[in-house]
Amino acid sequence: MKKIIEKPKELNELSLIIDDIGDIKNNATKSIDKLKKISKVNNHLIGLLDSLATKKEKLESYNKLHKSIFSHMGIGMIVIDRKRKIELVSKSIEKLIGIKEKDLIGKDPCELFKIIDNNGKIVPEKDRPLNLVLKGHSISINFTHKLFADFGTGKLVPLSIEATPIKKNGKIIGATMLYRDVTQEREIDEAKTEFISIASHQLKTPLTSISWHIEAILDNNKKAVHPIQQVQYLNEIYKTSKRMTKLVDNLLNVSRLESGSIKINRKHLNLAEIIKKTIKEQLPMAEPKNISIVKNLDIKLKAYLADPIVVEATMQNLLSNAIKYSLPGGNIVAALKSYKNDILLSVSDDGIGIPKNQQSKVFTKFFRADNARKLAEGTGLGLYIINNALTQAGCSLKFTSAKDKGSTFTVIFPNQGMKPKKGLKTLS
Ligand code: ADP
Repeated sequence: MKKIIEKPKELNELSLIIDDIGDIKNNATKSIDKLKKISKVNNHLIGLLDSLATKKEKLESYNKLHKSIFSHMGIGMIVIDRKRKIELVSKSIEKLIGIKEKDLIGKDPCELFKIIDNNGKIVPEKDRPLNLVLKGHSISINFTHKLFADFGTGKLVPLSIEATPIKKNGKIIGATMLYRDVTQEREIDEAKTEFISIASHQLKTPLTSISWHIEAILDNNKKAVHPIQQVQYLNEIYKTSKRMTKLVDNLLNVSRLESGSIKINRKHLNLAEIIKKTIKEQLPMAEPKNISIVKNLDIKLKAYLADPIVVEATMQNLLSNAIKYSLPGGNIVAALKSYKNDILLSVSDDGIGIPKNQQSKVFTKFFRADNARKLAEGTGLGLYIINNALTQAGCSLKFTSAKDKGSTFTVIFPNQGMKPKKGLKTLS
């Protein structure tokens, strides 16, 4: 008979506990695996969050940068939405339009200012760059297009406009408009055009005279004209070509002075001697008009450090003007003296003078007073050139004048001498 051996009760309990432990171990392993997975995901998330945080930081700083560039940029910038409402503006637009930045947001630029074309006509709304850009056209209008803005100040402002559509998924959602006041560019451009036109005109007059005289000689040759008349014509051609050379030299001087390429050399000069030499050279112009030239020179003045070409050009111009703009029998005084820390060189005359209302333009390019035009020929470049050269050399030129009474032009040379200046060319 088989004897049934029963497991003791404790053993049973033990085996149950061992089973439980087995379950616990299995569960624990599963949990650890889960935990590992969770931790992996967690690490990944942390990595993602970190990079998001860095991206956010970067975005914020880009945003700040954009805002700062936007508000400080010199150009007036407006960003509009597709309904033409202003979303963003740069600070400088305030100055241009004359309305505070915050009051511009949400407004339609078409209601804020008008655009005026070259013929003074208001550009209709449909043709305004603002509308064209919202139809997808990029627009670039520079100062040569002669477009103006009327901001209601009573003054038209010449404008340049750059407009670019803003697109999202191929659809236009707004536009960026750049506006710039181009008054300065326009003025420079106009001055250049005026310069070319006056210079060409001044060159054309002597050229016409030269060709007229040559033709006359050639024609007259067929009719065997008297040689004396031929010599007269040739003399005229010679004088005119000399005038032309002087004009071309002056035009070159203007360009050198304006580009800053003029060179100022320094040498010890005897100013009194230069004045005497110039008077001697110009006596042939004064004598036929019976004009007297008196010298009042402080000859004790020691040698002065200056550019001989600038000093001679100055003296020649002032004296030839005094002779040109004096009536027959007039009196001229050339003086040189020391005054405080300067040496003063002056040329006075009792000639036609300069009308008061035109005196502010005396040192501008091509200026010729009305009364001077009637009396003598000239280019209106002499005073402009010497005043510019003297200023670049650290000296100055002043004048007093009264119509029909006379003028005094005074050069102020500082005691220490002219300021030397490096450059490519001297005056010619
Ligand atoms: P230009 O004599 O060739 O016309 P300048 O530049 O030397 O040119 O002079 C400019 C203008 O200034 C002259 O046309 C004249 O109107 C005026 N001007 C200069 N000097 C005198 C002067 N001594 N008396 C009267 N007007 C003068």
